[in-house]
Amino acid sequence: MHDVIIVGAGPAGSSAAIHCNKLGLKTLILEKSRFPRDKICGDALSGKSVKFLDDLNLLEGLDKIDGAVIKRIIFGNPNHSECELHLNKSLNKKQINHGYVIPRKTFDNYLFNHASSTSDVETGFHVLDLIYEKKNVIGVKGKFDSGEEKEFFANVIVGADGPFSIVARKTGCYNADGKYTAVGLRCYYENISELTDQIELHYVGETIPGYFWIFPIGNNKANVGVGLIKNMAKKKNHKLYDIMQNVINSENFSRRFKNAIALEKPKGWNLPFGNTRRENHGNGFILLGDAAGLVDPFTGEGIGNAMESGKIAAEIILEAKKVNDYSKQYLSTYDEKLWNYLGSELDTSTLLLKLAHYKILLNFVIDRASRNKKVKDVISGMLADEVPKTELSNPMFYLKTLFS
Ligand SMILES: Cc1cc2nc3c(=O)[nH]c(=O)nc-3n(C[C@H](O)[C@H](O)[C@H](O)COP(=O)(O)OP(=O)(O)OC[C@H]3O[C@@H](n4cnc5c(N)ncnc54)[C@H](O)[C@@H]3O)c2cc1C
Repeated sequence: MHDVIIVGAGPAGSSAAIHCNKLGLKTLILEKSRFPRDKICGDALSGKSVKFLDDLNLLEGLDKIDGAVIKRIIFGNPNHSECELHLNKSLNKKQINHGYVIPRKTFDNYLFNHASSTSDVETGFHVLDLIYEKKNVIGVKGKFDSGEEKEFFANVIVGADGPFSIVARKTGCYNADGKYTAVGLRCYYENISELTDQIELHYVGETIPGYFWIFPIGNNKANVGVGLIKNMAKKKNHKLYDIMQNVINSENFSRRFKNAIALEKPKGWNLPFGNTRRENHGNGFILLGDAAGLVDPFTGEGIGNAMESGKIAAEIILEAKKVNDYSKQYLSTYDEKLWNYLGSELDTSTLLLKLAHYKILLNFVIDRASRNKKVKDVISGMLADEVPKTELSNPMFYLKTLFS
């Protein structure tokens, strides 16, 4: 019998396990894959993720694994003018002023190794169903790769099992609405020209309010992709793959891809956006990360929020253990804390996503930002997690800076 079973060992599950162990909770991780395993992603770790890794003393190790250190971000608008931001010029010089792009195969393995050194772990185990006692979730059942079936029991079941979460589906918390989900396509490339220490987000006509990205991963390779809201992707009369190829072959990018070699077939996956507030708890269970739909709707980042949800969950589970109360009512403090922390930021990103539907606005804002130091400073600070994103939903910010 464990205090906690964590289903899924991505950033949400692994960081939850690290925090649970720090707090003395007996933890079991159940993961269907075997590490190292791939995960379709842009692989970018921005200020928020880097801060969490620093808090866990995992930054030094991160510098030693394969990937790229990021110092600059380029935002391109539909007119193809660009705004360049320097992360190391963000407001607070004491803060961590860089990001990383590290393939998830490497990054998740790194995090998982830390989590598994202090937790019980079963990999190659697919959770297929939940076990209930009256209305309380008290365990999970599933199958190993070998076909062997097994049940595990704990006081709390944590669903950190990604966008198609079995824990969310079996508890009725799953939300597959296409308004709240994006689809992204990733392809690793070699030999794209002009790869340096910058990540590039290009809001081109075919992708807005989503974007086309080029994120270097080191060794002359890059993670390239496109992301689109699911409902819009369905409406467009061509596929995500065609959209990505059209952008790559367009006048603005073909030169850079002239000698580039695709290292794989493009692969797609879902991004469950945090533009709606789901219920992420119930009797005996809590949902984290993508299972809880916490991806930032404007930037598409989910790793930092996944790690944060893991930390909050561990703290609440410890409190629940002290009073031996794992009821829906008691665990509701998880959702309260989660939304206190993320709510206003996700609301701002939801607003920015709405604005990003308009080419004219994107052209105007990115154009002005490229020429306005104050705007650049605020956005750099936001990306380094020093300035709250809510600053961007304050109309005074635009009045004071864009029109100054
Ligand atoms: C195309 C794309 C680009 C993205 N780019 C970025 C980016 O650059 N930066 C960023 O911060 N975020 C990005 N994201 C979002 C980010 O990938 C996710 O938000 C993040 O992976 C969420 O972590 P998680 O631990 O919640 O879920 P996951 O990383 O999906 O981990 C879930 C784990 O659960 C396991 N699992 C699933 N079902 C079961 C089961 N039944 N039994 C046992 N185990 C199970 C899986 O094998 C997996 O290991 C991107 C997403 C996509 C799709």
